[in-house]
Amino acid sequence: MNNHSTQKKAIVVGAGLVGSLWAVFLARRGYQVEIYERRSDMRTAGYTGGRSINLAMSERGWKAVEKAGIREKIEKVAIPMPGRMMHSASGELTFQPYGKAGEAIYSVSRGGLNLELLNIAGEFPNVQFFFDHRCADVDLEHPRITFEDLKTNAFKTVDAPLIFAADGAFSAVRYAIQKTDRFNYTQFYLEHGYKELSIPPGPDGSHRLDPSALHIWPRGNFMLIALPNADGSFTCTLFLPFEGEVSFEKLTDNAAVTAFFQRYFSDALAQMPTLLEDFNTNPTSSLITVKCAPWQWQNRILLIGDAAHAIVPFYGQGMNAGFEDCTILDAMHDDLGGDWSKIIPQFAQQRKADGDAIAELAQRNFIEMRDLVADPKFLLRKKIAAHLHERHPDFLPVYSMVTFSNTPYHVALREEDEQNRLFGQILGLENIEQAWTGDAVEQVFNRWKQGGK
Ligand SMILES: Cc1cc2nc3c(=O)[nH]c(=O)nc-3n(C[C@H](O)[C@H](O)[C@H](O)COP(=O)(O)OP(=O)(O)OC[C@H]3O[C@@H](n4cnc5c(N)ncnc54)[C@H](O)[C@@H]3O)c2cc1C
Repeated sequence: MNNHSTQKKAIVVGAGLVGSLWAVFLARRGYQVEIYERRSDMRTAGYTGGRSINLAMSERGWKAVEKAGIREKIEKVAIPMPGRMMHSASGELTFQPYGKAGEAIYSVSRGGLNLELLNIAGEFPNVQFFFDHRCADVDLEHPRITFEDLKTNAFKTVDAPLIFAADGAFSAVRYAIQKTDRFNYTQFYLEHGYKELSIPPGPDGSHRLDPSALHIWPRGNFMLIALPNADGSFTCTLFLPFEGEVSFEKLTDNAAVTAFFQRYFSDALAQMPTLLEDFNTNPTSSLITVKCAPWQWQNRILLIGDAAHAIVPFYGQGMNAGFEDCTILDAMHDDLGGDWSKIIPQFAQQRKADGDAIAELAQRNFIEMRDLVADPKFLLRKKIAAHLHERHPDFLPVYSMVTFSNTPYHVALREEDEQNRLFGQILGLENIEQAWTGDAVEQVFNRWKQGGK
């Protein structure tokens, strides 16, 4: 056994959502944790952030925050969204439940959640924070890390026998590993970018739209979404191609932005008094998918969260997947007696298929959100899937599998391909629009279930 493999000191790079949660898990197990973060300490600098940015949290995320002991705190400010509210171009509304009664995804504040995680990590005497410290270089052989203190511009190098890299999609630690032999790396930018906008609270402080839904304005190749915040506002995100006929590059002045919203999102526009200010102030950001392997270096450096698997946000699973990394690693710690020389390679090997699967599912869900949610055939499929689930509780629609269960993502992806085949047959049945609860559907389903899969 290497001497690093059971020692109780760990370095975490990045105190974002995943790094700060993982620090809590390590601290609970009695590790001496040093956590280095490029940004300032939001506990003292405050998370004003100006705008509130929110995330959809689902089962995998809840499971992890529960283990960290902060579920109740987060629950108090989380807003349940049991379904999608679709806004048609003419302003008609259609509600589509995400799962069965009682199931919901939750809108949580990114800053609020990060702050809670830092607070709880900070309660452990064995956690030491180093904010305003940028990871500048990793000497893999030693291994040791060089950080730049962004307040003084001084560099310092620390020995780091056990490193968890939670420094996000553009991970500096991963960049060091990328230069080594037989490390695979791909990155892929979507042709769409995104911009965050806002629907402020109404004059009486209440939400201007129904807060118990994730709102979507699907428009084929692009879309607008809105998630509620606890303060009565909504954070909206416009997903639009960077270039082309209808794109960010065409929205060059206020008149063009207003005309675009008037044409495609007129009911939203009516609730967006700060649209032009938001549009001009907030950046247009890109969306990247990162795949790499192995997620580790010589059993002593492990990539977790977006550093290992950055995905597009259309399944609302990026953070949930990163949080699940923590849950799984923690369970492996028990199973493998805390021996990192076993945990790290096993995690990296086993979890990789799940990272790839959720990346694929997230890409596919973009098409569902921006386009299919407005397609009658797709809505019918959802209805039949819910009906089958009610009749056969062990039949779980893939969305539920990903969102409301802890089924490994690679199993959910396999199931999606199987279910696509099933629904291909069902939707091809004669008169299916009327007969969707009929015997013919049941027969196709039973054949599929008995190995026609
Ligand atoms: C528009 C959008 C919407 C999303 N919506 C959802 C959603 O609804 N649900 C969901 O589950 N996920 C969502 N995600 C994904 C989610 O944001 C990420 O998966 C999650 O933030 C990953 O957490 P992380 O800690 O791995 O990385 P990050 O949150 O990126 O944190 C990395 C941390 O490392 C620090 N850092 C970076 N480089 C260095 C360095 N060199 N030295 C020191 N520190 C460094 C950063 O400052 C940061 O604090 C969304 C993403 C986007 C872009």
